[in-house]
Amino acid sequence: MKISNYLVKPGTKISLSKFSTKDTSGIKSKEDAKEFLEKNIEKMIELQDKLYASDKYSLLLVFQAMDAAGKDSIIKHVMSGLNPQGTQVYSFKQPSKEELDHGFMWRIQKAVPERGRIGIFNRSHYEEVLVVKVHNLLKYQQIPSEFIDNKIWQNRYEHISDFEKYLYENGTVVLKFFLHVSKDEQKERFLARIDDKTKNWKFSAADVEERKLWNEYQSAYEEAITATSKKFAPWYIIPADKKWFARLLVSEIIVETLKKLDLQYPKLTDEQLAELQKCKENLMNE
Ligand code: ATP
Ligand code: MG
Repeated sequence: MKISNYLVKPGTKISLSKFSTKDTSGIKSKEDAKEFLEKNIEKMIELQDKLYASDKYSLLLVFQAMDAAGKDSIIKHVMSGLNPQGTQVYSFKQPSKEELDHGFMWRIQKAVPERGRIGIFNRSHYEEVLVVKVHNLLKYQQIPSEFIDNKIWQNRYEHISDFEKYLYENGTVVLKFFLHVSKDEQKERFLARIDDKTKNWKFSAADVEERKLWNEYQSAYEEAITATSKKFAPWYIIPADKKWFARLLVSEIIVETLKKLDLQYPKLTDEQLAELQKCKENLMNE
């Protein structure tokens, strides 16, 4: 599987309709994908252990998608098996009054993973150039009116990229995933949520209202992804009609990225090694 096929190359203008939602990179069955995913989870467990022990880098995974694209289930499956002490998941909902009394990055900053950890954002700062743009929510944000002009989105993309560059240069590796689901598949999943009692809780009538704004959202995503896919914080467009493939691809991207960091367990000095030997002798002589 070539992960670069799913990478949005910095500086290229994307059109989501040109990206497949159904691609499975030649993998034929759910069973095969599951097997590969399990292998990747093993590798992730090992890499996470080194990430934690070396305490230098952190990894931030950002998940954005239309409703029912499978964010929750990807987070659940891909992160299963990882050490819970080294992971943290944040779900960003509509901002609170206190959050709205600050700039949009305030609540995000506080949720960035500390060194050694893997942080997961279920929705993120990108909502500020997606839902806020599509629904024209700026008027509720109390931003002084002189800053609300026709450059505000461009300015926000720049704020986001500056922030992500800052994270990168301080040891946080940022990966961003757009789970790309088709409009037909979304409909199927909504219907399943209505028909299946165990899935009713996942359905909200508001999701159907949002679906009416499908094209507006797709355009907002295209513009935001085009403006913010950078070498230091790349976007990947994940075909998500087949959940089993989306899970596998995300795991593959995580493993390849962590491998490139060349993580090592901390090396002990000669003095520390001698100290260990002394402790061993003491224990043996008890
Ligand atoms: P999800 O839809 O992510 O699975 P959920 O169904 O549990 O989560 P929702 O009530 O749908 O919960 O919460 C997410 C909602 O919050 C979305 O509609 C999202 O667009 C909105 N939201 C997130 N961040 C912002 C923001 N910065 N400004 C306005 N709305 C936001
Ligand atoms: Mg929702």
